[in-house]
Amino acid sequence: MALLQTEGLVAHYGDFQALFGVDIELREAETVAIIGANGAGKTTLMRSIAGVLRNEAASVSFDGAPIGAQAADEIMAQGVAMVPEGRKLFPSLSVEENLLIGTYGRKTEGHWTLKTVYELFPILAERRHNPGTALSGGQQQMVAIGRALMSNPRVLLCDEISLGLAPVVIKDIYKAIPQIKAAGASMIVVEQDIAQAMAVADRVYCMMEGRVTLSGTPDNLSRDDIHNAYFGAS
Ligand code: ATP
Repeated sequence: MALLQTEGLVAHYGDFQALFGVDIELREAETVAIIGANGAGKTTLMRSIAGVLRNEAASVSFDGAPIGAQAADEIMAQGVAMVPEGRKLFPSLSVEENLLIGTYGRKTEGHWTLKTVYELFPILAERRHNPGTALSGGQQQMVAIGRALMSNPRVLLCDEISLGLAPVVIKDIYKAIPQIKAAGASMIVVEQDIAQAMAVADRVYCMMEGRVTLSGTPDNLSRDDIHNAYFGAS
């Protein structure tokens, strides 16, 4: 059974329909990547799962229970945390205060504490009293990931964690993913960089114009398949 699943998921912004019946699943201990061009609906999918956008109850299920109609804080309390696109830190708060926000509403103790987050990203321990604004983009991204981990999630949703970062910084951040996985989280990673997605994921879904156009394991998807699913068949 899937740990998290969407079935026939649709989403609208006013009259505009952004998702048209999306079916994906995430199994226990898996890392799934969602790839696709700008505007494909990847962020909308993450926001729908996290409860930022409300849906039909049955269109999202977690651990066998329908959660599609629940609010974001209820979903988070059950163990689904999101690292949002654009990081969304509180700029006037310190690194440590931003991390501690992740414990709000947490119901379970687990692997992730300030100590283990600082072990994962040692630079954050050095900067613990600095305000969010005094950090580089990569360090801010580490705080955003750490803050989500502080809730000890069973599922971590990461929306474009490499956006706008230099390749060497992206490498540093992606180095953390196997450790997050080893600590017990299943993950959905939204990524525009196909090679990065392929390197980190057990399975990949490609989206185009609000629909899943391809899915498979990195080994069994060819470059042509991905190109067609990403941009449309030529
Ligand atoms: P990106 O890589 O640019 O973040 P994406 O695949 O995450 O793209 P979404 O952000 O989910 O795509 O957008 C899907 C569609 O919904 C796009 O056509 C976008 O213009 C539209 N959209 C997204 N957010 C809103 C909003 N708040 N109001 C209206 N339309 C929106």
